[in-house]
Amino acid sequence: MYMLKKPHAVCVPFPAQGHINPMLTLAKILHSKGFHITFVNTEFNHRRLVKSQGSYILESCSPSFQFETIPDGLPPAENLDVTQDIPLLCKFTSETCLGPFKKLLSKLNGETMTPPVSCIVSDGVMSFTLDAADELGVPEVLFWTTSAGGLLAYAHYSTLRQNGFIPLKDSDDLNNGYLDTIVDCCIPSMKGIRLKDMPTFIRSTDPDEPMVNFCIRETARANRASAIILNTFEDLEHDVLNELSSIYPCVLSIGPLHAIANNMVQKDLKLMGSSLWKVDTECLAWLDSKEADSVVYVNFGSITVMTPQQLVEFSWGLANSNQAFLWVIRPDLVTGVVPQEFLEATGQRGMLTSWCPQEKVLNHPSIGGFLTHSGWNSTIESISSGIPMICWPFFAEQQTNCWYSCNKWRIGMEIDTDVDRNQVETLVRTLMVEEKGKDMREMAMVWKKKAETPSSLLNIDKLINQILLLRS
Ligand code: UDP
Repeated sequence: MYMLKKPHAVCVPFPAQGHINPMLTLAKILHSKGFHITFVNTEFNHRRLVKSQGSYILESCSPSFQFETIPDGLPPAENLDVTQDIPLLCKFTSETCLGPFKKLLSKLNGETMTPPVSCIVSDGVMSFTLDAADELGVPEVLFWTTSAGGLLAYAHYSTLRQNGFIPLKDSDDLNNGYLDTIVDCCIPSMKGIRLKDMPTFIRSTDPDEPMVNFCIRETARANRASAIILNTFEDLEHDVLNELSSIYPCVLSIGPLHAIANNMVQKDLKLMGSSLWKVDTECLAWLDSKEADSVVYVNFGSITVMTPQQLVEFSWGLANSNQAFLWVIRPDLVTGVVPQEFLEATGQRGMLTSWCPQEKVLNHPSIGGFLTHSGWNSTIESISSGIPMICWPFFAEQQTNCWYSCNKWRIGMEIDTDVDRNQVETLVRTLMVEEKGKDMREMAMVWKKKAETPSSLLNIDKLINQILLLRS
Protein backbone atom coordinates (compact mmCIF):
# COMPACT_ATOMS: atom_id res chain seq x y z
CA MET A 1 0.00 0.00 0.00
CA TYR A 2 2.89 2.30 0.88
CA MET A 3 4.10 2.26 -2.75
CA LEU A 4 0.73 3.44 -4.03
CA LYS A 5 1.09 6.76 -2.23
CA LYS A 6 4.40 7.64 -3.84
CA PRO A 7 4.64 10.19 -6.67
CA HIS A 8 5.77 8.34 -9.80
CA ALA A 9 8.30 9.93 -12.18
CA VAL A 10 8.89 8.37 -15.59
CA CYS A 11 12.44 9.25 -16.72
CA VAL A 12 13.24 9.08 -20.43
CA PRO A 13 16.86 9.64 -21.50
CA PHE A 14 18.00 10.09 -25.09
CA PRO A 15 19.64 6.73 -25.90
CA ALA A 16 23.32 7.71 -25.68
CA GLN A 17 25.83 7.42 -22.83
CA GLY A 18 26.19 11.15 -22.17
CA HIS A 19 22.42 11.42 -21.74
CA ILE A 20 21.77 8.21 -19.80
CA ASN A 21 24.38 9.04 -17.12
CA PRO A 22 22.98 12.36 -15.90
CA MET A 23 19.36 11.13 -16.25
CA LEU A 24 20.07 8.08 -14.10
CA THR A 25 21.78 10.28 -11.53
CA LEU A 26 18.77 12.59 -11.44
CA ALA A 27 16.43 9.59 -11.18
CA LYS A 28 18.38 8.35 -8.15
CA ILE A 29 18.11 11.79 -6.53
CA LEU A 30 14.34 11.84 -7.12
CA HIS A 31 14.12 8.33 -5.70
CA SER A 32 15.96 9.49 -2.57
CA LYS A 33 13.32 12.21 -2.26
CA GLY A 34 10.50 9.65 -2.19
CA PHE A 35 9.62 9.15 -5.86
CA HIS A 36 8.79 5.82 -7.47
CA ILE A 37 10.94 5.73 -10.62
CA THR A 38 10.39 4.14 -14.00
CA PHE A 39 13.54 4.53 -16.11
CA VAL A 40 12.87 4.05 -19.81
CA ASN A 41 15.72 2.77 -21.95
CA THR A 42 15.65 1.78 -25.57
CA GLU A 43 15.69 -1.99 -26.03
CA PHE A 44 19.17 -1.83 -27.60
CA ASN A 45 20.71 0.16 -24.74
CA HIS A 46 19.01 -1.91 -22.10
CA ARG A 47 20.62 -5.00 -23.57
CA ARG A 48 23.93 -3.16 -23.41
CA LEU A 49 23.35 -2.13 -19.78
CA VAL A 50 22.44 -5.66 -18.76
CA LYS A 51 25.61 -6.89 -20.47
CA SER A 52 27.88 -4.34 -18.78
CA GLN A 53 26.19 -4.08 -15.36
CA GLY A 54 24.43 -7.41 -14.93
CA SER A 55 20.65 -7.68 -14.66
CA TYR A 56 20.95 -8.51 -10.98
CA ILE A 57 22.37 -5.07 -10.17
CA LEU A 58 19.77 -3.30 -12.26
CA GLU A 59 16.78 -5.10 -10.86
CA SER A 60 17.59 -5.76 -7.26
CA CYS A 61 18.44 -2.35 -5.88
CA SER A 62 14.95 -1.20 -4.95
CA PRO A 63 11.38 -2.32 -5.73
CA SER A 64 10.45 1.32 -6.30
CA PHE A 65 13.05 1.77 -9.05
CA GLN A 66 12.09 -0.09 -12.20
CA PHE A 67 13.40 -0.27 -15.75
CA GLU A 68 11.21 -0.44 -18.86
CA THR A 69 12.09 -0.39 -22.54
CA ILE A 70 10.75 0.98 -25.80
CA PRO A 71 12.16 0.29 -29.29
CA ASP A 72 14.36 3.02 -30.80
CA GLY A 73 12.98 2.46 -34.29
CA LEU A 74 16.38 1.61 -35.82
CA PRO A 75 17.00 -1.66 -37.65
CA PRO A 76 18.19 -4.40 -35.23
CA ALA A 77 21.94 -4.30 -34.45
CA GLU A 78 23.97 -7.14 -33.06
CA ASN A 79 27.23 -5.48 -32.01
CA LEU A 80 26.54 -4.23 -28.48
CA ASP A 81 29.86 -2.41 -28.11
CA VAL A 82 29.32 0.49 -30.45
CA THR A 83 27.55 3.81 -30.15
CA GLN A 84 24.61 4.14 -32.51
CA ASP A 85 24.54 6.82 -35.18
CA ILE A 86 23.37 10.02 -33.43
CA PRO A 87 21.59 11.82 -36.32
CA LEU A 88 19.76 8.54 -37.11
CA LEU A 89 18.73 8.18 -33.48
CA CYS A 90 17.41 11.76 -33.47
CA LYS A 91 15.36 11.04 -36.58
CA PHE A 92 13.99 7.68 -35.50
CA THR A 93 13.21 8.49 -31.86
CA SER A 94 11.30 11.63 -32.83
CA GLU A 95 9.40 9.83 -35.59
CA THR A 96 8.68 6.45 -34.01
CA CYS A 97 8.83 6.47 -30.21
CA LEU A 98 5.63 8.31 -29.27
CA GLY A 99 3.33 5.33 -29.90
CA PRO A 100 5.34 2.78 -27.86
CA PHE A 101 5.85 5.38 -25.12
CA LYS A 102 2.11 6.06 -24.77
CA LYS A 103 1.48 2.33 -24.68
CA LEU A 104 4.04 1.98 -21.89
CA LEU A 105 2.39 4.76 -19.88
CA SER A 106 -1.01 3.09 -20.08
CA LYS A 107 0.54 -0.23 -19.08
CA LEU A 108 2.14 1.44 -16.04
CA ASN A 109 -1.16 3.08 -15.11
CA GLY A 110 -2.90 -0.27 -15.31
CA GLU A 111 -0.57 -1.99 -12.84
CA THR A 112 -2.05 -2.38 -9.38
CA MET A 113 1.25 -2.44 -7.51
CA THR A 114 2.68 0.62 -9.26
CA PRO A 115 1.58 4.15 -8.28
CA PRO A 116 -0.05 6.10 -11.14
CA VAL A 117 2.35 8.07 -13.31
CA SER A 118 2.40 11.59 -11.87
CA CYS A 119 5.12 13.32 -13.91
CA ILE A 120 7.55 12.84 -16.78
CA VAL A 121 11.20 13.86 -16.82
CA SER A 122 12.40 13.59 -20.39
CA ASP A 123 15.57 14.40 -22.26
CA GLY A 124 15.36 17.74 -24.05
CA VAL A 125 15.79 16.06 -27.43
CA MET A 126 13.04 13.50 -26.76
CA SER A 127 10.33 16.16 -26.82
CA PHE A 128 7.78 13.78 -28.40
CA THR A 129 7.13 12.83 -24.76
CA LEU A 130 5.41 16.23 -24.28
CA ASP A 131 2.44 14.98 -26.32
CA ALA A 132 2.08 11.97 -24.03
CA ALA A 133 2.30 14.14 -20.90
CA ASP A 134 -0.38 16.48 -22.26
CA GLU A 135 -2.66 13.56 -23.01
CA LEU A 136 -2.18 12.19 -19.50
CA GLY A 137 -2.50 15.63 -17.88
CA VAL A 138 0.77 15.34 -15.95
CA PRO A 139 3.62 17.88 -15.73
CA GLU A 140 6.69 17.27 -17.86
CA VAL A 141 10.17 18.61 -17.25
CA LEU A 142 12.75 18.62 -20.04
CA PHE A 143 16.31 17.80 -19.04
CA TRP A 144 18.77 19.32 -21.52
CA THR A 145 21.96 17.41 -20.79
CA THR A 146 24.06 20.04 -22.60
CA SER A 147 25.70 23.03 -20.95
CA ALA A 148 23.38 26.04 -20.65
CA GLY A 149 25.58 27.63 -23.33
CA GLY A 150 25.02 24.60 -25.57
CA LEU A 151 21.24 24.83 -25.23
CA LEU A 152 21.30 28.59 -25.86
CA ALA A 153 23.46 28.10 -28.95
CA TYR A 154 20.99 25.53 -30.35
CA ALA A 155 18.09 27.83 -29.48
CA HIS A 156 19.78 30.50 -31.63
CA TYR A 157 20.16 28.32 -34.73
CA SER A 158 16.97 29.93 -36.03
CA THR A 159 18.36 33.43 -35.37
CA LEU A 160 21.52 32.56 -37.30
CA ARG A 161 19.35 31.39 -40.17
CA GLN A 162 17.15 34.51 -40.10
CA ASN A 163 20.25 36.71 -40.14
CA GLY A 164 21.71 34.89 -43.14
CA PHE A 165 24.78 33.44 -41.33
CA ILE A 166 23.66 29.91 -42.21
CA PRO A 167 23.51 27.83 -44.33
CA LEU A 168 27.07 28.28 -45.56
CA LYS A 169 27.14 29.72 -49.09
CA ASP A 170 29.88 27.40 -50.25
CA SER A 171 31.76 24.43 -48.85
CA ASP A 172 34.92 26.62 -49.05
CA ASP A 173 33.42 28.54 -46.12
CA LEU A 174 34.61 25.67 -43.94
CA ASN A 175 38.24 26.65 -44.58
CA ASN A 176 38.38 30.25 -45.79
CA GLY A 177 38.00 31.99 -42.45
CA TYR A 178 34.23 32.43 -42.69
CA LEU A 179 33.75 30.35 -39.51
CA ASP A 180 35.74 33.03 -37.63
CA THR A 181 32.81 35.43 -38.10
CA ILE A 182 31.66 36.77 -34.75
CA VAL A 183 27.93 36.22 -34.31
CA ASP A 184 27.27 37.70 -30.88
CA CYS A 185 24.83 40.16 -32.47
CA CYS A 186 22.51 37.15 -32.50
CA ILE A 187 23.39 35.90 -29.00
CA PRO A 188 23.80 38.78 -26.58
CA SER A 189 25.04 36.73 -23.60
CA MET A 190 27.90 35.10 -25.56
CA LYS A 191 30.21 38.05 -26.19
CA GLY A 192 32.78 37.26 -28.86
CA ILE A 193 31.37 33.90 -29.96
CA ARG A 194 32.25 32.86 -33.51
CA LEU A 195 30.44 30.57 -35.91
CA LYS A 196 33.16 27.96 -35.30
CA ASP A 197 32.25 27.93 -31.58
CA MET A 198 28.61 27.19 -32.32
CA PRO A 199 27.42 23.55 -32.31
CA THR A 200 28.83 21.97 -35.45
CA PHE A 201 25.64 20.99 -37.28
CA ILE A 202 25.60 24.46 -38.93
CA ARG A 203 28.75 23.57 -40.92
CA SER A 204 26.65 22.76 -43.94
CA THR A 205 25.50 24.32 -47.19
CA ASP A 206 22.18 22.45 -47.04
CA PRO A 207 19.35 24.92 -46.35
CA ASP A 208 17.41 21.98 -44.92
CA GLU A 209 20.20 20.31 -42.94
CA PRO A 210 18.24 17.70 -40.92
CA MET A 211 20.16 18.18 -37.65
CA VAL A 212 19.76 21.97 -37.83
CA ASN A 213 16.02 21.52 -38.40
CA PHE A 214 15.88 18.97 -35.57
CA CYS A 215 17.58 21.35 -33.12
CA ILE A 216 15.36 24.26 -34.15
CA ARG A 217 12.26 22.13 -33.65
CA GLU A 218 13.34 20.65 -30.31
CA THR A 219 14.40 24.02 -28.83
CA ALA A 220 11.08 25.56 -29.92
CA ARG A 221 9.02 22.72 -28.45
CA ALA A 222 10.88 23.13 -25.16
CA ASN A 223 8.59 26.09 -24.48
CA ARG A 224 5.78 23.63 -23.75
CA ALA A 225 7.57 22.04 -20.79
CA SER A 226 6.72 22.90 -17.19
CA ALA A 227 10.43 23.53 -16.67
CA ILE A 228 13.81 23.09 -18.31
CA ILE A 229 16.57 21.70 -16.13
CA LEU A 230 20.31 21.80 -16.79
CA ASN A 231 23.28 20.01 -15.27
CA THR A 232 25.20 23.21 -14.54
CA PHE A 233 25.40 25.81 -11.78
CA GLU A 234 24.56 29.46 -11.47
CA ASP A 235 28.08 30.91 -11.03
CA LEU A 236 29.45 29.01 -14.02
CA GLU A 237 26.88 30.07 -16.60
CA HIS A 238 25.16 33.05 -15.03
CA ASP A 239 24.71 35.22 -18.15
CA VAL A 240 23.57 32.39 -20.36
CA LEU A 241 21.12 31.12 -17.75
CA ASN A 242 19.68 34.65 -17.57
CA GLU A 243 19.20 34.80 -21.31
CA LEU A 244 17.63 31.34 -21.32
CA SER A 245 15.20 32.53 -18.64
CA SER A 246 14.09 35.29 -21.00
CA ILE A 247 13.28 32.67 -23.65
CA TYR A 248 11.76 29.86 -21.57
CA PRO A 249 9.24 30.11 -18.72
CA CYS A 250 11.18 28.19 -16.04
CA VAL A 251 14.89 27.35 -16.28
CA LEU A 252 16.58 25.64 -13.33
CA SER A 253 20.28 24.84 -12.95
CA ILE A 254 20.61 21.72 -10.81
CA GLY A 255 24.23 20.62 -11.22
CA PRO A 256 26.78 19.26 -10.87
CA LEU A 257 24.38 16.36 -10.43
CA HIS A 258 26.92 13.57 -9.86
CA ALA A 259 28.50 15.52 -6.98
CA ILE A 260 25.11 16.34 -5.45
CA ALA A 261 23.99 12.72 -5.77
CA ASN A 262 27.06 11.51 -3.87
CA ASN A 263 25.67 12.95 -0.67
CA MET A 264 22.07 12.04 -1.28
CA VAL A 265 21.63 8.68 -2.93
CA GLN A 266 21.21 5.58 -0.78
CA LYS A 267 23.98 3.01 -0.78
CA ASP A 268 22.35 0.17 -2.71
CA LEU A 269 21.30 2.50 -5.54
CA LYS A 270 24.88 3.72 -5.84
CA LEU A 271 25.75 0.23 -7.03
CA MET A 272 23.47 0.68 -10.03
CA GLY A 273 25.78 1.95 -12.75
CA SER A 274 24.95 3.32 -16.18
CA SER A 275 28.06 2.55 -18.23
CA LEU A 276 27.26 0.88 -21.53
CA TRP A 277 30.77 -0.59 -21.64
CA LYS A 278 32.28 -2.86 -19.01
CA VAL A 279 34.20 -0.70 -16.54
CA ASP A 280 37.87 -1.45 -15.86
CA THR A 281 38.62 -0.50 -12.25
CA GLU A 282 42.22 -1.73 -12.33
CA CYS A 283 43.36 1.66 -13.52
CA LEU A 284 42.52 3.03 -10.06
CA ALA A 285 45.18 0.80 -8.46
CA TRP A 286 47.63 1.95 -11.15
CA LEU A 287 46.79 5.58 -10.34
CA ASP A 288 47.45 4.84 -6.63
CA SER A 289 51.07 4.19 -7.55
CA LYS A 290 51.54 7.64 -9.08
CA GLU A 291 52.38 10.97 -7.46
CA ALA A 292 49.86 13.74 -6.90
CA ASP A 293 48.92 15.77 -9.99
CA SER A 294 51.32 13.78 -12.16
CA VAL A 295 49.06 11.90 -14.59
CA VAL A 296 47.29 13.20 -17.72
CA TYR A 297 43.93 11.50 -18.17
CA VAL A 298 43.00 11.06 -21.85
CA ASN A 299 39.44 10.18 -22.79
CA PHE A 300 37.25 11.27 -25.70
CA GLY A 301 33.90 10.04 -24.40
CA SER A 302 31.41 7.64 -25.94
CA ILE A 303 30.86 9.02 -29.46
CA THR A 304 34.10 10.58 -30.76
CA VAL A 305 35.87 8.69 -33.50
CA MET A 306 39.26 9.50 -34.97
CA THR A 307 41.35 8.49 -37.95
CA PRO A 308 44.28 6.09 -37.54
CA GLN A 309 46.60 9.04 -38.31
CA GLN A 310 45.07 11.15 -35.53
CA LEU A 311 45.60 8.23 -33.15
CA VAL A 312 49.25 8.08 -34.15
CA GLU A 313 49.68 11.85 -33.60
CA PHE A 314 48.12 11.64 -30.13
CA SER A 315 50.30 8.62 -29.35
CA TRP A 316 53.60 10.31 -30.22
CA GLY A 317 52.52 13.60 -28.66
CA LEU A 318 51.90 11.78 -25.38
CA ALA A 319 55.07 9.71 -25.65
CA ASN A 320 57.25 12.75 -26.39
CA SER A 321 55.71 14.81 -23.55
CA ASN A 322 57.40 12.47 -21.08
CA GLN A 323 54.39 12.69 -18.76
CA ALA A 324 52.51 9.79 -17.19
CA PHE A 325 49.12 9.16 -18.77
CA LEU A 326 45.99 7.06 -18.49
CA TRP A 327 44.45 6.74 -21.95
CA VAL A 328 41.01 5.26 -22.53
CA ILE A 329 40.61 3.88 -26.05
CA ARG A 330 37.06 2.63 -26.65
CA PRO A 331 36.82 -0.41 -28.93
CA ASP A 332 35.04 1.81 -31.50
CA LEU A 333 37.19 4.97 -31.11
CA VAL A 334 39.25 4.27 -34.19
CA THR A 335 39.86 1.65 -36.82
CA GLY A 336 43.49 1.15 -36.00
CA VAL A 337 45.82 0.44 -33.14
CA VAL A 338 48.43 2.47 -31.31
CA PRO A 339 51.91 1.88 -32.75
CA GLN A 340 53.93 -0.89 -31.07
CA GLU A 341 56.93 1.46 -30.78
CA PHE A 342 54.71 3.83 -28.79
CA LEU A 343 53.96 1.10 -26.27
CA GLU A 344 57.65 0.29 -26.02
CA ALA A 345 58.60 3.97 -25.68
CA THR A 346 56.13 4.72 -22.89
CA GLY A 347 56.28 1.47 -20.86
CA GLN A 348 55.17 1.88 -17.22
CA ARG A 349 54.61 5.59 -17.74
CA GLY A 350 51.34 4.98 -19.52
CA MET A 351 48.28 2.83 -19.05
CA LEU A 352 45.77 2.03 -21.77
CA THR A 353 42.28 0.75 -21.08
CA SER A 354 38.95 0.61 -22.90
CA TRP A 355 36.49 2.18 -20.41
CA CYS A 356 37.08 3.53 -16.92
CA PRO A 357 35.10 4.84 -13.94
CA GLN A 358 35.59 8.45 -15.03
CA GLU A 359 34.21 10.24 -11.99
CA LYS A 360 36.53 8.25 -9.72
CA VAL A 361 39.47 8.79 -12.05
CA LEU A 362 38.94 12.56 -12.18
CA ASN A 363 38.77 12.66 -8.38
CA HIS A 364 41.94 10.62 -7.97
CA PRO A 365 44.76 12.72 -6.43
CA SER A 366 47.28 11.62 -9.07
CA ILE A 367 45.32 13.16 -11.96
CA GLY A 368 46.71 16.57 -12.91
CA GLY A 369 45.04 17.26 -16.25
CA PHE A 370 42.40 15.96 -18.64
CA LEU A 371 42.77 15.67 -22.41
CA THR A 372 39.11 15.63 -23.37
CA HIS A 373 36.68 16.00 -26.27
CA SER A 374 34.76 18.60 -24.21
CA GLY A 375 31.53 16.61 -23.93
CA TRP A 376 29.38 18.36 -21.37
CA ASN A 377 29.43 15.57 -18.78
CA SER A 378 33.19 15.28 -19.00
CA THR A 379 33.55 19.05 -18.71
CA ILE A 380 31.31 19.45 -15.66
CA GLU A 381 32.88 16.37 -14.03
CA SER A 382 36.33 17.87 -14.61
CA ILE A 383 35.25 21.24 -13.23
CA SER A 384 33.81 19.76 -10.08
CA SER A 385 37.03 17.80 -9.56
CA GLY A 386 39.20 20.91 -10.05
CA ILE A 387 41.03 19.49 -13.10
CA PRO A 388 42.19 21.74 -15.99
CA MET A 389 41.74 20.52 -19.55
CA ILE A 390 43.23 20.23 -23.00
CA CYS A 391 40.27 20.30 -25.37
CA TRP A 392 39.89 18.47 -28.67
CA PRO A 393 36.19 19.00 -29.40
CA PHE A 394 34.71 16.54 -31.87
CA PHE A 395 31.16 17.61 -32.72
CA ALA A 396 27.80 19.07 -31.63
CA GLU A 397 28.08 21.61 -28.76
CA GLN A 398 31.50 20.32 -27.69
CA GLN A 399 32.98 23.27 -29.65
CA THR A 400 30.90 25.66 -27.51
CA ASN A 401 32.01 23.96 -24.28
CA CYS A 402 35.62 24.16 -25.45
CA TRP A 403 35.24 27.90 -26.14
CA TYR A 404 33.92 28.46 -22.63
CA SER A 405 36.60 26.31 -21.00
CA CYS A 406 39.43 28.09 -22.82
CA ASN A 407 38.19 31.66 -23.08
CA LYS A 408 35.71 32.29 -20.30
CA TRP A 409 36.53 29.90 -17.45
CA ARG A 410 40.26 29.88 -18.23
CA ILE A 411 40.76 26.23 -17.43
CA GLY A 412 41.42 24.88 -20.92
CA MET A 413 43.70 24.99 -23.98
CA GLU A 414 42.50 23.86 -27.40
CA ILE A 415 44.19 21.41 -29.77
CA ASP A 416 43.60 21.96 -33.50
CA THR A 417 41.21 19.54 -35.20
CA ASP A 418 44.12 18.63 -37.43
CA VAL A 419 45.97 17.17 -34.51
CA ASP A 420 49.74 17.24 -34.68
CA ARG A 421 52.16 15.42 -32.32
CA ASN A 422 54.24 18.55 -31.61
CA GLN A 423 51.21 20.50 -30.46
CA VAL A 424 50.05 17.60 -28.27
CA GLU A 425 53.51 17.35 -26.72
CA THR A 426 53.71 21.11 -26.07
CA LEU A 427 50.23 21.42 -24.60
CA VAL A 428 50.60 18.36 -22.37
CA ARG A 429 53.87 19.72 -20.99
CA THR A 430 52.36 23.18 -20.54
CA LEU A 431 49.43 21.71 -18.65
CA MET A 432 51.44 19.38 -16.45
CA VAL A 433 54.70 21.16 -15.69
CA GLU A 434 54.64 24.82 -16.67
CA GLU A 435 53.49 27.97 -14.89
CA LYS A 436 50.50 28.38 -17.21
CA GLY A 437 49.29 24.90 -16.30
CA LYS A 438 49.71 25.68 -12.63
CA ASP A 439 47.60 28.83 -13.05
CA MET A 440 44.90 26.82 -14.81
CA ARG A 441 44.96 24.22 -12.02
CA GLU A 442 44.44 27.01 -9.47
CA MET A 443 41.60 28.42 -11.53
CA ALA A 444 40.05 24.96 -11.79
CA MET A 445 40.18 24.72 -7.99
CA VAL A 446 38.32 28.04 -7.77
CA TRP A 447 35.57 26.60 -9.97
CA LYS A 448 35.52 23.38 -7.98
CA LYS A 449 34.80 25.42 -4.84
CA LYS A 450 32.08 27.39 -6.62
CA ALA A 451 30.53 24.14 -7.85
CA GLU A 452 29.61 23.30 -4.26
CA THR A 453 26.69 25.61 -4.65
CA PRO A 454 23.57 25.82 -2.52
CA SER A 455 21.60 27.33 -5.44
CA SER A 456 21.42 23.98 -7.27
CA LEU A 457 20.12 22.26 -4.13
CA LEU A 458 17.45 24.93 -3.77
CA ASN A 459 16.54 24.47 -7.44
CA ILE A 460 16.19 20.70 -6.97
CA ASP A 461 13.75 21.35 -4.13
CA LYS A 462 11.91 23.85 -6.30
CA LEU A 463 11.77 21.36 -9.16
CA ILE A 464 10.26 18.74 -6.90
CA ASN A 465 7.89 20.83 -4.79
CA GLN A 466 6.69 23.39 -7.29
CA ILE A 467 6.66 21.35 -10.49
CA LEU A 468 6.90 17.58 -10.23
CA LEU A 469 4.56 17.25 -7.23
CA LEU A 470 2.06 19.68 -8.72
CA ARG A 471 -0.57 17.12 -9.59
CA SER A 472 0.50 14.16 -7.49
N1 UDP B 1 32.58 7.92 -19.18
C1 UDP B 1 32.98 6.92 -18.29
N2 UDP B 1 34.08 6.18 -18.61
C2 UDP B 1 34.79 6.37 -19.75
C3 UDP B 1 34.36 7.36 -20.65
C4 UDP B 1 33.27 8.13 -20.33
O1 UDP B 1 32.37 6.72 -17.24
O2 UDP B 1 35.77 5.66 -19.95
C5 UDP B 1 31.39 8.73 -18.85
C6 UDP B 1 31.77 10.12 -18.43
O3 UDP B 1 32.02 10.15 -17.02
C7 UDP B 1 30.58 10.94 -18.85
C8 UDP B 1 30.04 10.18 -20.07
O4 UDP B 1 30.59 8.88 -20.01
O5 UDP B 1 29.61 10.94 -17.81
C9 UDP B 1 30.42 10.83 -21.38
O6 UDP B 1 29.63 11.94 -21.58
P1 UDP B 1 30.15 13.26 -22.30
O7 UDP B 1 29.03 14.23 -22.32
O8 UDP B 1 31.40 13.75 -21.69
O9 UDP B 1 30.55 12.80 -23.75
P2 UDP B 1 29.79 11.96 -24.90
O10 UDP B 1 30.08 10.54 -24.61
O11 UDP B 1 28.32 12.28 -24.83
O12 UDP B 1 30.44 12.43 -26.15
